[in-house]
Amino acid sequence: MPAYQSILSDLRRSFPQPTSDRIHDSYVTHTLMRVLDQVDALKSELPIWGRKAPLDYAQARSQRLQHRGISLEEVSTELVGYLNGLNIWGHPRTQINICPPPTVASLVAQVVAGLANPNMVWDEVSQRFAVAEVEVAAMVSQLVGYDPQISAGIFTFGGTGCTLYASRIGLEKALPGSLRQGVREDAAILASCSGHYCKLTVAGWLGLGHRNVYAIPTDGRNQMRLDLLEKKAREILSSGGKIACLVATLGTTDSFALDDLEGVLDLRDRLVAEFSLDYRPHVHADAVIGWAWCVFGGYPWEDNPLGFRPRTLRALAATVERLAGLDRADSIGIDFHKTGFTPYASSMLLVKDGQDLKKLGRNYEEMPYLFQTGEYHPGLFTLETSRSGSGILAALANLRLFGRTGLQSLLGHIVEKAQVLRELLEARPYLTIVNRDNFGPVTLFRAYPAGVDTFRVHERELSDATYALSLQAHNLHNRRLASFLHEEAMSGRGVLLGQSDCYRLTPYGEPVVALKSYIISPFVEDHHLGELVEKIAQAHRHLENTPVMASAQGRRIDLQHMP
Ligand SMILES: *Cc1c(COP(=O)(O)O)cnc(C)c1O
Repeated sequence: MPAYQSILSDLRRSFPQPTSDRIHDSYVTHTLMRVLDQVDALKSELPIWGRKAPLDYAQARSQRLQHRGISLEEVSTELVGYLNGLNIWGHPRTQINICPPPTVASLVAQVVAGLANPNMVWDEVSQRFAVAEVEVAAMVSQLVGYDPQISAGIFTFGGTGCTLYASRIGLEKALPGSLRQGVREDAAILASCSGHYCKLTVAGWLGLGHRNVYAIPTDGRNQMRLDLLEKKAREILSSGGKIACLVATLGTTDSFALDDLEGVLDLRDRLVAEFSLDYRPHVHADAVIGWAWCVFGGYPWEDNPLGFRPRTLRALAATVERLAGLDRADSIGIDFHKTGFTPYASSMLLVKDGQDLKKLGRNYEEMPYLFQTGEYHPGLFTLETSRSGSGILAALANLRLFGRTGLQSLLGHIVEKAQVLRELLEARPYLTIVNRDNFGPVTLFRAYPAGVDTFRVHERELSDATYALSLQAHNLHNRRLASFLHEEAMSGRGVLLGQSDCYRLTPYGEPVVALKSYIISPFVEDHHLGELVEKIAQAHRHLENTPVMASAQGRRIDLQHMP
């Protein structure tokens, strides 16, 4: 027998068996159970898996493919080791960012999809997974108010991919034929300056360049200023320029700000008429975070069958109001891997009119009418060639697992806990919530040294250029506070918060630092929030007692500038 044969027969046991083999099944099950046991051993009171050690990239670079492989058991144990030091997103003491804990159903979906390994390039090699993609698109279409018979949804590599698709479609509307002929003209992408930086990625990769991105300033609630959007759009159109895409962000990454989508749509329609445009500038709703709140459409606020508190109800209802207009947007970006509780990557671009996707067809003339012949060939227009089915099945799993009331309860819970946190923060005179009127699960706040009038200071920071030095000193104060809280949390005391180095720019160009609590874990309870605020109080006292040069200087400047 050739030597390779014995290696091969060992390796065969490392694949799922192609025909029924119950004994092998129990071997696979056992392997997974051992993995779960090892994962369990990495859990503690800390909000991270196992322990954190310095990440040794030099050692990593020295790795080489070994002559002999190792056993499945050894591989499994090694893999679990890679969890060490990573945040446990579902831990109630993890409030860093919008990294969601995946449900068991979505994990099972990933295993199932991984096992069968469909390729979403076309239905011949994806079969019922293609149907799953259409099912998810139909469910979400109905949620956002699209007609599922006309709309189409395509999973891609993230919210960034969604904006890329939308902008490419918009580019083809503004510069027809540019997919084939190349982009030879400028075309603008207009979006909120508080929106995601992916607009830059997209403009760069589309060959438009960053200089075609217009970041529109935001108002005090971090919403894109419609008057300034209009001004910029008019400027572009008046000088004969083209607009590839108007992006409204529904739920900004940092502060859950909700742009006035209806206002953007109305503006677009007015501009088309007024400038007699021969195309309709594409309006994309970057609702990768906010989409999920659509489950509250039609919720009986008066009866409130799920029993949310009045403040929570108000926040939820206000969000739903801001989402009005989604049904008129040309496309919507949806991240299940944010507010849909799936693993990465699970994102869907939803277009109001499925025909829009044909604009991206590589062989438009010869291309069959995909959605009418009952065939499913997304590979003709998708950016990816091989496309995974994991994200699709994970999204489907959660939509089925949650149902409307499940997602309502999860979102209601995180919004309610954010409201509770805000009440607790407001009770501390040295803290100011900087997104107070916000309706989402994220709370941004700033701490100030004793003696600063926190009722007025933030307004002043945002308006008075002569206050820049104090602002910088306060930024430093918040950074120091954040690092104290971080150290404490990593020792098992308090909560891991996020930090935004620039939750917004002042009109005079200074970044404003904010501490950030992003509540996404379904396991957060009031006592975690009480502990967090106590810990902040301790940090406040600690900083008062250990002044550093810079913060001492900051205090002096404060006094000078006190109103
Ligand atoms: C996260 C985010 C993105 C980018 O999405 P990815 O899935 O990380 O690519 C885009 N827009 C907003 C508003 C986001 O929050």
